[in-house]
Amino acid sequence: MSTRLTWLPGVLRAAGLKVAEQPGWVDRGADMGDIVGVICHHTGTPRDGNMPTLKMLTDGVVQASGKLLPGPLAQLGLGRDGTYYVVAAGRCNHAGKGEWKGFTTGNTNFIGIEAENRGSPADPWPQVQLDAYRRGVAAILKHVDARADYCCAHREYALPKGRKNDPHSLDMDDFRAKVAALMAGTGVVTNPVVPAVDAAQRPTLKRGDKGEAVRIVQRAVGVSDDGNFGPGTEAAVRAFQRTHDLVPDGIIGPKSWLVIPDADKAPKVFTAPAAAPRPALTRLAWGAKVSPAFRDKVVSICADLGVAPDDLMACMAFESGGSFAPDKRNAAGSGAVGLIQFMPSTAISLQTTSAELAAMTAEDQLDYVRKYFAPYRGRLHNLGDLYMAILWPRGVGKPDEYALFVQSDGESRAYLQNRGLDIDKDGVVTRGEACAKIKAKLVEGQKPENLFVAA
Ligand SMILES: [Zn+2]
Repeated sequence: MSTRLTWLPGVLRAAGLKVAEQPGWVDRGADMGDIVGVICHHTGTPRDGNMPTLKMLTDGVVQASGKLLPGPLAQLGLGRDGTYYVVAAGRCNHAGKGEWKGFTTGNTNFIGIEAENRGSPADPWPQVQLDAYRRGVAAILKHVDARADYCCAHREYALPKGRKNDPHSLDMDDFRAKVAALMAGTGVVTNPVVPAVDAAQRPTLKRGDKGEAVRIVQRAVGVSDDGNFGPGTEAAVRAFQRTHDLVPDGIIGPKSWLVIPDADKAPKVFTAPAAAPRPALTRLAWGAKVSPAFRDKVVSICADLGVAPDDLMACMAFESGGSFAPDKRNAAGSGAVGLIQFMPSTAISLQTTSAELAAMTAEDQLDYVRKYFAPYRGRLHNLGDLYMAILWPRGVGKPDEYALFVQSDGESRAYLQNRGLDIDKDGVVTRGEACAKIKAKLVEGQKPENLFVAA
């Protein structure tokens, strides 16, 4: 496993925040160390608009000295409307020299958030942006199990003192107190989540949504009505909202529906009938090796993730050497442990430790398996994707010939650790090669001594 912040969008969305993933974010930036905190910035860009600095955050910037500061410049951009733009899952050049709580490795151990602003009190912070700033920081710190005082302003971190002034005019002690209250569940959210339906039972629509209601919106905002709420539709919705004096958040909620012509033709959302009881499990690969409670939990996790229970069982069988033991240690001494060989840094990012994981029951450890995979929901389309999420998340969604580890490149350490997967010994471990072992485990799980079959 590698330390990449693939959990960022999921954690922010779970906090009710608006999130836009920038193409390529998963692969952008080198691997990170453990995350201990967050550094808050302003972009200082002399331009209007929601997030005009996005391209610079991605590609880098030529500094006053004439030298290029290469991108990515921050994991997250925060637009004026409170939308988080996820720029990179890896390390970013945002901190420079400095120190906070004894840490001098800002880029390695802190997530950078660049909030769009001209960088002076002449550009006051919109309430919706400030609110999202605090909620996003609270969600991140909670996820990495850090306290609110592990969030600081760039001007507090930067050395020599006075090197940076961002983010301007934010009282950071007040900011941290509000973040702490949010983390404790006692904070005030001034901009609550947009309700899922309006009073006329019309659905709230945002990027990623599809269907007839989207077509009605697309006709209103003047883009082709293909029924897919993509980036182009979102931009047109923002422009439409600005001309109607609405918050340009790119989301069609109750206020926006009121100004959409033909809104009355939008299909209504009906409350779904209660889900049918799940049919009893009749068979499960490797199911004979685990308890009934373990099997039930696996089925529940896989229903949430939209993956086949047999596939998750095959991955856990491979990772735990067929033992399904919560305290199974990596034979090569990597420090990894348990059902999906949680690395020590992964354990911390899941708000536990390797020792705690090893001491719990296999059934309880499945809660951490669930938590580990949650950020990948919607992206796991086959057994290979599921395994890639464990071994090398950049391989999720890639084809069989995708090169995971190459002997000759800068990641040769990763190649050496995984050379057992290089079936044809050509110095390249492809995704297909890595997945061959997992497919074999799936087959092995169907053998009579391993297969669970309901009596
Ligand atoms: Zn800064």
